[in-house]
Amino acid sequence: MRLGWILLVGMLCACSLSAQTSGAQSPVPDVFLVTIDTLRADHVHCYGNDGVSTPALDALARDGVRFSQAFTPSPVTNTSHTTILTGLLPSTHGVTDFAVPLSTSYPTWAELLHNRGYHTAAFIGAVILDSKTLAPGLDRGFDFYDNFPEHPKSNERWGRVERRGAEVAEHAENWLNTHRAGPRFVWVHLYDPHDPYEPPSPYAQTYKDRPYDGEIAYADSVLGSFVAYLKAHSWYRNALIIVVGDHGEGLGEHREETHGIFLYDSTLHVPLIVKLPAGAGAGKSVDAQVRTTDILPTALSLVGIELPAHLDGSSLKPYFDGGETADRVAIGETDYPLRFGWAPLKSVRRNQQKFIAAPRPEFYDLRADPGELKNIYASDNPDVATTRQVLADLHSTPNSTDSAAASLKNLPDPKDKIEEQNLLHAALLASDDNRPEAARQALEKVLALDPKSPTALRQLGELELQAGDYPKAATHLKAAHTVRPDDATVALELGQALEKTGDYPGARDALETALQASPGQLDARVLLGNVYLALKDFRAAEDQFEAALLLKADSTEAQAGLAKAKLGH
Ligand SMILES: [Zn+2]
Repeated sequence: MRLGWILLVGMLCACSLSAQTSGAQSPVPDVFLVTIDTLRADHVHCYGNDGVSTPALDALARDGVRFSQAFTPSPVTNTSHTTILTGLLPSTHGVTDFAVPLSTSYPTWAELLHNRGYHTAAFIGAVILDSKTLAPGLDRGFDFYDNFPEHPKSNERWGRVERRGAEVAEHAENWLNTHRAGPRFVWVHLYDPHDPYEPPSPYAQTYKDRPYDGEIAYADSVLGSFVAYLKAHSWYRNALIIVVGDHGEGLGEHREETHGIFLYDSTLHVPLIVKLPAGAGAGKSVDAQVRTTDILPTALSLVGIELPAHLDGSSLKPYFDGGETADRVAIGETDYPLRFGWAPLKSVRRNQQKFIAAPRPEFYDLRADPGELKNIYASDNPDVATTRQVLADLHSTPNSTDSAAASLKNLPDPKDKIEEQNLLHAALLASDDNRPEAARQALEKVLALDPKSPTALRQLGELELQAGDYPKAATHLKAAHTVRPDDATVALELGQALEKTGDYPGARDALETALQASPGQLDARVLLGNVYLALKDFRAAEDQFEAALLLKADSTEAQAGLAKAKLGH
């Protein structure tokens, strides 16, 4: 006991001493987190893929510790990044969809480092991580968070919804140039491998038939330049650098083209490389199963910050010296299918087996079947029972498993819906790209598969609204409203379409429903006021305009409407 204590104290002293003497700058290391979006582990050269050139990731693995079996709990960008920045599972931090604010109850990586004197900055490559719109709260603790412009100058994709990696890195380097005093925590998000796959030259040519790999090679080149920049400023050696994928990509496996719906390894297995300060652990490879929930506690323990009371992961430090070699249990969770009205999924990966909780449950023996192609689920299999219990223990609030089971039972299995999802995704990209005809075609194919798809009906309605075909818009939106009567956006859009066709009673009913679901919608209030004017119900019109003015006192439309209503009676 005594000897053990003396040894431990000795080791701690040696560590802090080496930290103080090895770095040219501060003994507290700079921390650089680089997340590469949509990066499948098996599409990286140092993860065994000879067809993709990733010299920067390979070099970082030679200088650091490479985890060959790292798993994200979430295949969705916001959710997965929130996990990386909090060390929490999606079901704990709650950011399970776009635009869901991160609760202030959970401290973020940036906050924890900022409280200890770090200068902090984040550089994002996609609007889906913009903290003003789709990722509220993710900026907590950052001195600077590089959001997208609120009013983009052009309709182009670049700069409006996505930034090339080189631009993201340039922003980060500009910030570092003006924040030279450490310690600094910088998060760089390279979105490039996310679809649509459009690598710039020369990667577009080199990877002509594999544009996804071309995007990876390009993102790797950006990482290479960024590392070269750090080296040129002597900021590399003493830094802690963590590079990780936020999730993988389906690429047609299990019929999933992109990511978000399923919990197979194609989208959950990610590369994870940890480059330690002063070259510690260089070239080590760890084959134990670990999780992206472990990244935050690792970083905190390496820079000597106390861990928050509750985390779903734990530090990977014991793997660096071989003190720990065992696999950790990896949980998977996706609520993304709920967006489309399909069952959410959960999974457990342990002992080289995977259980997926779905309306039609799945169980895979990963040793014999690494591609997860042969579902050997049987309710009386004791391994299934043990693995299922892991999920039950995870969040054992009263009735939670009952209600989860009930919701699973009633919703369609995403396995039966993946073709629809591929088409919906294609339509979304086409709309984003101002290609309404391609979007319309994809959505009509969805309706051929499921005439009641609320997402397809709403998006078709929106396309027709934009195109000015109001009767058609009204037809689609009416159908969407029947399937999803509580959806305030659909109700508002239906009201807009009906008002344009002159169906004022119909518009009135739709707008009343929209405002019941979401009373703070200024647009809906003003429009409903105008509909009441058209119906010559001046008192009701007056009420709506007054309510609108409570929402926005200087709304000229509401002021004009109120004047008309008062004249009317
Ligand atoms: Zn992503």
